[in-house]
Amino acid sequence: MAGRLLLLRATTAALQLRSNVAARPLLRAVSTAKGIPTDEEQATGLERRAMQALKQGKDPYSILKPKQYAGTKEDPHIVPSIGNKRIVGCICEEDNTAIVWFWLHEGESQRCPSCGSHYKLVHHELPH
Ligand SMILES: [Zn+2]
Repeated sequence: MAGRLLLLRATTAALQLRSNVAARPLLRAVSTAKGIPTDEEQATGLERRAMQALKQGKDPYSILKPKQYAGTKEDPHIVPSIGNKRIVGCICEEDNTAIVWFWLHEGESQRCPSCGSHYKLVHHELPH
């Protein structure tokens, strides 16, 4: 019986010690914030960078629907790339079943060898 009592006391002491050391900063953080923190407030590292890029209107991982371009010389299809070239597949006509593949290089805009649509490579930075 005495041993059990001693064990209980030891556990209570350990809990008090832990609450004094570790739980205080947590309690302070919860008490100063209003309610549950949002994803943006608690995001760190890569997730935070991606969120900030999205907020600035950027699309770091190409998760949004691509913008529509006319494909003319004045308004070429913009192709983002992390390198200096990228393979492009052009569906020249809306109902075509074959895709025309070609390499698009950095620099001046290039034309699809089949339909002549303009494509321009634009450097894209990943947020890492
Ligand atoms: Zn084409």
